[in-house]
Amino acid sequence: MISYIGVGSNQADPIQQAKLAIERLHHLPDSVFCNSSSLYHSAPMGPQDQPDYINAVVKIDTQLTAIELLDELQKIELSQGRVRKENRWGPRTLDLDIILYDNKVINNARLTIPHYGMHEREFVLYPLLELDNELLLPDGKALLQLTAHCHKNGLIRISS
Ligand code: ATP
Ligand code: MG
Ligand code: MG
Repeated sequence: MISYIGVGSNQADPIQQAKLAIERLHHLPDSVFCNSSSLYHSAPMGPQDQPDYINAVVKIDTQLTAIELLDELQKIELSQGRVRKENRWGPRTLDLDIILYDNKVINNARLTIPHYGMHEREFVLYPLLELDNELLLPDGKALLQLTAHCHKNGLIRISS
């Protein structure tokens, strides 16, 4: 299954956090690392009294189920000091979200795939576009159509 994983950090040297996470994603069990986008600098979503974010998207080819993949991603988050807080969208050392998993639509207590916020999130859509500009979502919508309606909101590509 081809899966795209969103990487985000805004604490404790976010560029290094993102690079370390991408390195760890090379070693996921039963998976092949395909490619990663550039790193991007983005404005925080939600609470504004927090540092800017570093984001990227990674493409893998995996035999893990979506839940197994989520478990692996949460292990990596914890290994990089992620503390789960009550309020969503607060500062974090590392956030790893499953954006897409094959062309599957999944809705259960632990997973919503495609990621529910991807349509509005410039820091997801533009890195994704860099990886595959012909990508189609499970509902048949073209990624290019989504980016056409998504403001960059100051998103800056900082390295390849
Ligand atoms: P957001 O989901 O808006 O990006 P967040 O990433 O900060 O917010 P987290 O605290 O990382 O939220 O995750 C909260 C819960 O979201 C996780 O425990 C997980 O079960 C659930 N979740 C649902 N869908 C997904 C997904 N596609 N990828 C990762 N986690 C997901
Ligand atoms: Mg998230
Ligand atoms: Mg998350």
